[in-house]
Amino acid sequence: MVNVAQNADAIQQQINLACEQCRRSPADITTIAVTKYVSVERAQEALNIGIAHIGENRVEGFREKHDAVGNQANVHFIGTLQSRKVKEIIDDVAMIHSLDRMSLAKEIQKRATRKVACFVQVNVSGEQSKQGISPEEVVPFIEELRVYTNVEVVGLMTMAPAITDETQLRSIFSTLRAYKEEVERQGWEHAPCHYLSMGMSNDFRIAIEEGATHIRIGSKLVGKQFE
Ligand SMILES: *Cc1c(COP(=O)(O)O)cnc(C)c1O
Repeated sequence: MVNVAQNADAIQQQINLACEQCRRSPADITTIAVTKYVSVERAQEALNIGIAHIGENRVEGFREKHDAVGNQANVHFIGTLQSRKVKEIIDDVAMIHSLDRMSLAKEIQKRATRKVACFVQVNVSGEQSKQGISPEEVVPFIEELRVYTNVEVVGLMTMAPAITDETQLRSIFSTLRAYKEEVERQGWEHAPCHYLSMGMSNDFRIAIEEGATHIRIGSKLVGKQFE
């Protein structure tokens, strides 16, 4: 049996420890419960214990969860987003974590009736299977986003590979942080870029030590009922 409250307590303890290690405040870490593997009922359990953010990686899942519990939570979109589906989430999404191409920004611009908070997804590890722009593209890509006034670049996002080597993971997260700081230094109004969306069930402690502000936790928090 998955006990969401117990899982949440254990994760909070690890967040607190990681924050102590690097002298950060746990209040600066936003935990997004990734509910893509679980039912609305399980998502509701998470909300009942005070979790305020949930994340979905598919438009269908996003709609299902938003329509059921969106009045109690900020619903984030964390997966590959097809341009033709932007209109299905744009009015309801808290933040998009997967902006990875100009054509997507253009569609967000067209469909949004407000500024939408977006993370630019970066493929730091260079794995073929991972989405995201390459690190060298980060600064020029974000500079070009200036014309899309409904897109606000709040930060950078990455997914680390499924490895356990701590040194390698740390290097991926710290690379993303370095790029975030480079964007911040530009002082662009359309791209404050103060946030880092990185860290999942198996690597969030290291991500926090390397500067994560938004961690996306699925299996270790709400469990995995289906894939
Ligand atoms: C599924 C998913 C997660 C959560 O994965 P867990 O390892 O179960 O914590 C986080 N981020 C993204 C983009 C995902 O697709």
